[in-house]
Amino acid sequence: CGIVGYIGEQPSKEILLYGLEKLEYRGYDSAGIALLNGQGVHVFKEKGRIADLRAIVAEDVDAPLGIGHTRWATHGVPNRVNAHPHQSASGRFTLVHNGVIENYELLKRDYLAHVSFKSDTDTEVIVQLIETFVNDGLTVEEAFRKALSLLKGSYAIALIDAENNGVIYAAKNKSPLLAGLGEGFNVVASDALAMLQVTSQYVELMDKEIVIVTKESVTIKKLNGEVVERAPYVAELDA
Ligand code: GLU
Repeated sequence: CGIVGYIGEQPSKEILLYGLEKLEYRGYDSAGIALLNGQGVHVFKEKGRIADLRAIVAEDVDAPLGIGHTRWATHGVPNRVNAHPHQSASGRFTLVHNGVIENYELLKRDYLAHVSFKSDTDTEVIVQLIETFVNDGLTVEEAFRKALSLLKGSYAIALIDAENNGVIYAAKNKSPLLAGLGEGFNVVASDALAMLQVTSQYVELMDKEIVIVTKESVTIKKLNGEVVERAPYVAELDA
């Protein structure tokens, strides 16, 4: 399983699909991508191999911002509905997640009794919590940090907001995640292998950190909002 994300000026679809293929070695049962452009969010997901996903991705849709996921199911059978990305009730927020949310049933009961869930995954609570907290008046970043602070378990997450095509939010706890730095673009990935095609410069994230990624900047913060400075390194691997 693995996640990828790209924000920049180039069409991202092929970069994301190629990146997911590079993560195939980690094992998976389904895969998906979400692309955000001037027409909104376009989600494609399918059970099976990346080749099966490629077969259903619309040829005429592309975007300079996108996220992708390969799934190793832990909660909910491997099928198209349970494949990631998952979306919030209104469709505004779209999220991919690797890991396990141990307290998802409790979170559903305490915060999300008003939401009708579309999938059987533990993951869907994260995106529904974010939308609920935004509806309560928090900014997206605040809602993201609040939702993460309630989670028990492991995660590498990437989140996009249909109302803001300038940012990817990502976060990690006990699952790997890197931010990759480019000229006029930036990326996130579970493994540098997935993005060596576009950059060799990476910044590692630590547990319980978020990263706010625009095409010009990568800002790491703790869950309390405090900014963290960390120098990038050069990945010396063969693509
Ligand atoms: N627990 C999530 C699910 O079952 C994520 C699994 C993964 O790491 O791919 O959908």
